[in-house]
Amino acid sequence: MKNHTLCTFALIGLILTWSNVVSGEEVKRKLRIICFGAHPDDCELQVGGVAAMWSARGHKVKLVSVTNGDIGHWREAGGPLASRRTKEVEAASKILGATAEVLDIHDGELLPSLENRRTITRLIREWKADIVMGPRPNDYHPDHRYTGILVQDAAYMVTVPFFCPDTPHLKSNPVFLYYPDGFQKPNPFQPDIAVAIDGVIEKRLDALDTLESQFYEGGANGSADLIPSEPAKQKERKLEVRARFQSRYESLANRFRPKLVEFYGEEKARGVKYAEAFEICEYGRRPNAEELKKLFPFFDK
Ligand SMILES: [Zn+2]
Repeated sequence: MKNHTLCTFALIGLILTWSNVVSGEEVKRKLRIICFGAHPDDCELQVGGVAAMWSARGHKVKLVSVTNGDIGHWREAGGPLASRRTKEVEAASKILGATAEVLDIHDGELLPSLENRRTITRLIREWKADIVMGPRPNDYHPDHRYTGILVQDAAYMVTVPFFCPDTPHLKSNPVFLYYPDGFQKPNPFQPDIAVAIDGVIEKRLDALDTLESQFYEGGANGSADLIPSEPAKQKERKLEVRARFQSRYESLANRFRPKLVEFYGEEKARGVKYAEAFEICEYGRRPNAEELKKLFPFFDK
């Protein structure tokens, strides 16, 4: 009798464990996403909308700036600018529900070195990433290009046990994705997925509002002329900057409309106003359409 009761408990326990595994692994498992940008504003510009959507569903998003942005202003530079920009992206990430990290590498001086390859590899492993994002390596800015190269260089190494053996390697290779850009040579950006961000557009624009040094003040190529002294004019300037970004995501929706149709259907896609899009990197895991929809769980509603 006693043995029989024990067996029954063991059986119930086994069933419960199994259902936890099923719900934990296949239904409720939270995704882990790590995004790399060269400067403290690049990730926020490229993936802020989708980051906010993942975060709202309990998935974990980290936005990493590979340089500290310490020459990205016309009036100020060095440590004080780096710390100002770190605070800006921390505020942006708070709005988006993401985690921000800024690496202490000088702006304008990023190299695809072995040391940096190790750093990027460790960050991806430590985050236990399912998805890794970065720029394509044919961008105009050397820091953007080398961020792209460094992420590509890590795309296989994250799975190799004896590369950086101090940080446990990933058993499953993440999916690597590129942000869109307008460069045509040697090959243009080709979207594999487009996501409507209409539901989070205000939050997305609020996050960009916090990056004052870059957009309101104009960053490296700005000037004192951009910043009015009267409060009414300042407010006008803020709205102007916000409107510029609003139209940026509107033009992405228009540019990638055919891809939106593939994911949302003709009718729904026609109504999408704002979007973000991504291209699957040939390195890393190559997801099929079904897996892509699990990684971007936004198409049911
Ligand atoms: Zn940048």
